[in-house]
Amino acid sequence: YDIVDEDGNIRSGGGGDFSYCLSMAFDSSLTVTYLIPVTPEFRSEAYYIPTVGSIGLGINGIPIKGDPPSVTTAEAGIGGTGSGNIPALDHCGGHADPAGYYHWHFIPQSINTVFDAPEYNFTNLYGISCTNTYIEYEDHAAFAGLAKDGFPIYAAYDLIDGANTLPADVATTDECNGHTHATEEFPDGAYHYHALETGAPTVPVCLMGSYVDRNDFTVQ
Ligand SMILES: [Zn+2]
Ligand SMILES: [Zn+2]
Repeated sequence: YDIVDEDGNIRSGGGGDFSYCLSMAFDSSLTVTYLIPVTPEFRSEAYYIPTVGSIGLGINGIPIKGDPPSVTTAEAGIGGTGSGNIPALDHCGGHADPAGYYHWHFIPQSINTVFDAPEYNFTNLYGISCTNTYIEYEDHAAFAGLAKDGFPIYAAYDLIDGANTLPADVATTDECNGHTHATEEFPDGAYHYHALETGAPTVPVCLMGSYVDRNDFTVQ
């Protein structure tokens, strides 16, 4: 890719014939409305989140989306020629949408376990970690948000007897990294998703419940 110019600077912005680091402007006047089932219902088969598809929202209202567009799968840019724009993410896994609203491609409560993972080792090598004070980024078993099907999303671990425990060791996890057991917020037991521990992005790749289609408001 030609994202770095002859002087060693990263091209940012967008447009033109070169590759760019996409940096979008924020528009804090925007509002985003979610229609989320109060009583979630299971679908007949898992719904896989498409690229930049909506997953749900964090507990502070920030949208959570599926994989950002990848230049490695785009026609342009393959083999180092042409343009392939790369959307930059901040240390908590978020950035502004072209429409101007901030959103996450990671569950921030779990992004530091990815940075620490041996295959990345970003914290050790580059000192990179999420330090957003508005989220419990150090609580890796935190209740992190709601999927658009109404099922809760937790960070990468379950807290069992005060210890971070891998979800699969608590109750069998399905293809969407979800399972059912009692949690602090749902003491009678509830189906919930977990963020991935070291996979990137950390978000659930699919949903098991019905959700409202944003275009025609039908239940999918
Ligand atoms: Zn994005
Ligand atoms: Zn769990």
